[in-house]
Amino acid sequence: MKSFRHLTMHEARCLQAAGDLSIRTLHKEMALAAHSDNATLGAFTHFIEEGPSPGGTHPLRNFSAAIKANIAGKGWPTHCGSRLLQNYRSPFDSTVVARLRAAGSRFMGITTMDEFGMGSSCEHTTFSQVVNPWDHGRTAGGSSGGSAAAVASGLAWFGLGSDTGGSVRLPAHFCGVVGLKPTWGRISRNGLVAFASSLDTIGILGRDVQDVHEVFQTLAGRDDLDATTLVEPVDRSPLKTSENLQGLRLGVPEELKSMDLDPDVRHDFQESIKRLEYLGAVSVPLTLGNILDAVPAYTVLNCAEAASNLHRFDGSLYGSRVDAESYLGSLEKTRTEGFGAEVKRRLLLGAHVLSGGYQQRYYLRACATRETIIGDFRKLFTRMDVLALPTAPTTAFALGSRLENPLGMHLTDVLTVPASLAGLPALTVPTAVNDFGLPLSLQLVGPACSERLLVESALVFEKQVCFRDVKEAPWHRQP
Ligand code: GLN
Repeated sequence: MKSFRHLTMHEARCLQAAGDLSIRTLHKEMALAAHSDNATLGAFTHFIEEGPSPGGTHPLRNFSAAIKANIAGKGWPTHCGSRLLQNYRSPFDSTVVARLRAAGSRFMGITTMDEFGMGSSCEHTTFSQVVNPWDHGRTAGGSSGGSAAAVASGLAWFGLGSDTGGSVRLPAHFCGVVGLKPTWGRISRNGLVAFASSLDTIGILGRDVQDVHEVFQTLAGRDDLDATTLVEPVDRSPLKTSENLQGLRLGVPEELKSMDLDPDVRHDFQESIKRLEYLGAVSVPLTLGNILDAVPAYTVLNCAEAASNLHRFDGSLYGSRVDAESYLGSLEKTRTEGFGAEVKRRLLLGAHVLSGGYQQRYYLRACATRETIIGDFRKLFTRMDVLALPTAPTTAFALGSRLENPLGMHLTDVLTVPASLAGLPALTVPTAVNDFGLPLSLQLVGPACSERLLVESALVFEKQVCFRDVKEAPWHRQP
């Protein structure tokens, strides 16, 4: 009999229907394991002891989620990885949490993250350090590393994270799970603590593509509490199951040939393209041009928006306040003591690029680059259906190795920020494990609202690669 660590949600449902197991009982086993394993893993900062809402037959019923600490749930510590918010409790449910509650999901706990989502390794946090389930000396990625590590080691069935410039896809890649960043506006941001609003999306981490699709179906769609949610209806029809990808036009960037990629990442990407071609996809070689210049524009824009969004943390409304003689004195002390180094760096940079004399030179130029990138993607999607990319230039890096090098840390995002700037959906699917036992992955990017196409293509690909049969997967190693 397979343990809960080996199963996806759809497999567990089938076994339950056949009378072979009970998902409720599995939840108890999983919760026990989560409490004990977390001491090493550091994925959760808090556990949630709440039963599911009664009744109903939703596919997510009784399955427990790991929730990133910037997604509000009533009474939960929405600490965003920040010392400033460490005692803060949300007074309401975010829309995604409300939708999961209505589906009858359970919640395993609140997960570790880089402070306010700023980072790629979960090392910029006031809370526990997350280790990669495949190699405890390496990072699980960030900023949604806690959710990814929890799903990868079988301590939650699925996870919610947020992806502003890659924070769901990078940890999915580092931890060997599936990660979906939806189209901007496809999933409500009501109750997601804002980092860079024009880029922020709530994303999903899961053990396979079908599980991620089911969570996406539950969360996606118009929400009156978030006026930026898209009005286009979500396709609710059953997934098409196909054995091949006949005729799918696959964009393959020429620039990857000269890009600084780990040899393993390069080799694995080439293997993935061969597999996709074997399945019937047609490779379309193309140049991305400006699209690969996304990092500087992303850096300016995320800092500018963060500087504006994080103004609200002055100690008067949220979190801990450090008292002083005057309001300004208290504000200064609260923010100086409450924010970590990375957040401060970004707030200073953000204030600078928005300031009178420099707006033109930095902020407006970054906005113009973003427009160009959006236009370039639009043109490219007349020649291809999906774009294939590695998720990151390297596999999971060693803990501590990039902390003193903020620029190096930002370059981790070179292959994820283009889709973020253009608001496009992107899906990371694990492919293989390298000689050091670290996962590799493929990233597929599609036009706006093409989650269905990404999921259906990834299902065919996933079946071909059989990643979950990998012998050394962490859930195999656990007792
Ligand atoms: N690593 C990126 C950054 O630090 C992305 C963060 C995110 O997507 N939240 O900005």
